Amino acid sequence: MLEIKDLHASINGKEILKGINLTVKPGEVHAIMGPNGSGKSTLSSVLTGNPAFEVTKGSVHFYGKDLLDLPPEDRSREGIFLSFQYPVEIPGVSMVNFMRTAVNEHRKYKGQPSLTASEFLKLMREKRAVVELDTKLANRSVNEGFSGGEKKRNEIFQMAMLEPRLSILDETDSGLDIDALRIVANGVNLLKTPENSTIVITHYQRLLDYIKPDIVHVLYQGKIVKTAGPELALELEEKGYDWIKKELGE
Ligand code: ADP
Ligand code: MG
Ligand code: MG
Repeated sequence: MLEIKDLHASINGKEILKGINLTVKPGEVHAIMGPNGSGKSTLSSVLTGNPAFEVTKGSVHFYGKDLLDLPPEDRSREGIFLSFQYPVEIPGVSMVNFMRTAVNEHRKYKGQPSLTASEFLKLMREKRAVVELDTKLANRSVNEGFSGGEKKRNEIFQMAMLEPRLSILDETDSGLDIDALRIVANGVNLLKTPENSTIVITHYQRLLDYIKPDIVHVLYQGKIVKTAGPELALELEEKGYDWIKKELGE
């Protein structure tokens, strides 16, 4: 479904991604781990079309379509969802209006009619339950005054509403206490289908206790330097990243 080949990307002339190769198949869960500053968030920004980054080389295909040719909103409509490491507050835009617009834009793209008000509210209720998001939050402006944990839960709520084919979770676990972590992970697991894939970016094994990855990658200095099964995450938890740097001859 997703095929990244030799992807290079820069910001302000500084190269951050230095030749990423990654293939994700339908239904797979991939974890991307790696020290701070490796380029993990940059990779998610480039996949979703953040214009701050310039792709200088390589290709990204999603179900055969050239993703890099599409504006961010079409990537979203194609079914790519990013849960931000640092979700932004959007004062003055209510969650209800924000989600109604997003859901109906996606439906329009698929040639489906807009939801009626009552269909939409039913969907909101159903998906809110997935992450136990309070009704009060759903009636407020997007993320405004939400706690760190509530913002992260709200990200997964948005994901539940849009039912993406590829979800990228960028450190969704950071700032979550153990209960919130479990709720968020449950939400992700409930939304899992044999067709939909997930890329989980995380520093910690603990999220991967709940969201079981099929494949674990280490991103370091803009490259994927190691790929293995779930046991790699446990090894990293135990030993840190120094042994990988040693293996690379540093
Ligand atoms: P990670 O998510 O793995 O911690 P990032 O992708 O956030 O890493 O950052 C990778 C590198 O890119 C870092 O050296 C960071 O300083 C740099 N970088 C990220 N965003 C910007 C930006 N907007 N301007 C300049 N440098 C940036
Ligand atoms: Mg970081
Ligand atoms: Mg990051």
